[in-house]
Formats: sequence, structure tokens, C-alpha cells
Amino acid sequence: MYQFNGQHVIVTGGTRGIGAGIAEAFLKAGATVIATYSGNDEAANNFKEKHSLYGDKLVLKKFNVSNTTEVENFFKDYENQFPSLEILINNAGIRRDSIIPSMNESDWDAVIDTNLKGTYNMTRFAVLTMMKNRYGRIVNMSSVGGKLGLPGQANYAASKAGQIALSLSVSKEVAKRNITINNVCPGFIETELIADLPVEQVKEYKSQVPMRRFGKVEEVAHAVLFFASKESSYITGTTLDIAGGLNA
Ligand code: NAP
Repeated sequence: MYQFNGQHVIVTGGTRGIGAGIAEAFLKAGATVIATYSGNDEAANNFKEKHSLYGDKLVLKKFNVSNTTEVENFFKDYENQFPSLEILINNAGIRRDSIIPSMNESDWDAVIDTNLKGTYNMTRFAVLTMMKNRYGRIVNMSSVGGKLGLPGQANYAASKAGQIALSLSVSKEVAKRNITINNVCPGFIETELIADLPVEQVKEYKSQVPMRRFGKVEEVAHAVLFFASKESSYITGTTLDIAGGLNA
């Protein structure tokens, strides 16, 4: 539907799950995709292998989005390797669920650091790069959980609400430079992130979704490409639910 020929897209967490679906959609639409990941080499290699027909248009990079030094080094290398950066998708994310009395500090920190600080790190350096060309599209992978809150997800919900708040501020800072930043809020999407949910809980969650099913990665990718397109030039600081009617 959209064309991204000649454009460069960074998709964090782009080798598995929703991120892989997004990376695939951008490849099909003509972009050069830099798909990042943090540790799962096997999944990354499988992803690269599956898309070998795209050759140099798919590049993998391994680093931790929550580590500022690693992010800074990634962008230094990026600027030497690629002529420009048009699109950043802040998709990398984790869950460490438990109810608040038993949520330990390391689970709180890991989720906030990956989901929120990771978004801050990537956005900060990406904006510096995008400002040079006075053009950019940033899309954050938030969650309906950041607006509704689910029991056991205080850390996750706070991180996802934080991404929305971050983009509200940043959208106002960079609007004059032709850079937009928006959020998508998936509901339950079929990936490994929620594969550990007990069968009974899956049944319960599906019964709460008006469409009575979980979403597919392609359904999220479609909305991400919409926000990332040149045509979406007057849309910034907004949030779109992709949740089968489970809206906050
Ligand atoms: P997933 O299948 O678990 O994949 C997560 C990806 O993020 C992996 O590629 C992983 O890399 C990467 N990652 C994790 N920690 C990282 C770090 N510190 N630095 C760099 N990369 C890191 O998850 P998913 O379901 O596709 O979720 C993707 C995003 O959508 C997340 O932000 C999630 O919160 C959001 N979301 C998901 C759902 C859902 O129902 N699935 C719903 C709403 C929102 P490795 O492969 O190396 O581990």
C-alpha cells in the first residue's frame, strides 16, 4: 500500500514477534531495514535466512537498547554505514509480571529500562540524525496495557504509558523539523511475549476482546507503516489502539 524505496528503517526487536512482522512489511515495501535484537542469535539468524532474497537491504545489529553506551556506539556505526535515517520503530520490549507486593526491584528496573529508557535512548540519537535531513518518522510500540492497566503489570503499564507521554513532549519539540512521533497500542497479539500465559487466562482474555480473538503481527505492522509513511505528514503525538475493540 505504501512505498518506502530509498528509505532506511530501524526496527528495534525486529527479528522476532511483532518487530519481525514490521521489518518484513517494510522490506516488502522497498525499504532498507536495520533490525536490532539483544541476545537471541538463533532467532536473528533464522530471520535473516528467511529473508535472504533481500540481501543487503536487511541488516541485523545486536545491542541492548537500555544501555546508553551501546546505543551511542550503534548510532556512530550507523552514520558511517548509512546515508540517512528516515524511520525509527521503538518496538523492543519485555514483560516481568507479578502483583505489586511481590514485584521485586530488578523486575521493575528491567521493564522500565528496556521499554521506556530504551525508547528514550533510541529516540534521542535518532532525532539528532533525522534533524540533519529535516525529516523523520518515529513510531513507539506501546500497549493498551499502558492505558487500561492489567493486574500484575504495574511495571509494564507504567513503561507503556511512559512511552505515550514521552512522545507527546517530543512531538512538540520536533514538529518544526518535519519529524513525527506516534504510538500504536496493540491489545493481545500472538507472539512469544504472551506464549507463557496459562490456557485459562488466554480464554478469559479472549472473552474480554469484542472480536473474541488475539491479533496477528501483520495487523500491527499495517498501522505502523501508515504512521511511517510520507503521507502521514500531519499526524503527530497521537496514539492508535489495535486491539480488536478492547479499547481504553
Ligand atoms: P517478543 O516476541 O518477545 O520480541 C521482543 C523483541 O525485543 C526481541 O527481538 C528481543 O530481542 C527484543 N528485545 C528485548 N529486550 C531488548 C533489549 N534490552 N534491547 C534490544 N532488544 C530487546 O515480543 P513481541 O510480542 O513481539 O512484542 C514487541 C513489542 O510489542 C513490545 O514492546 C511489547 O511490549 C509490545 N506489545 C506486545 C503485545 C503482545 O500481545 N505480544 C501487546 C502489546 C504490546 P531477542 O530476540 O534478542 O530476545
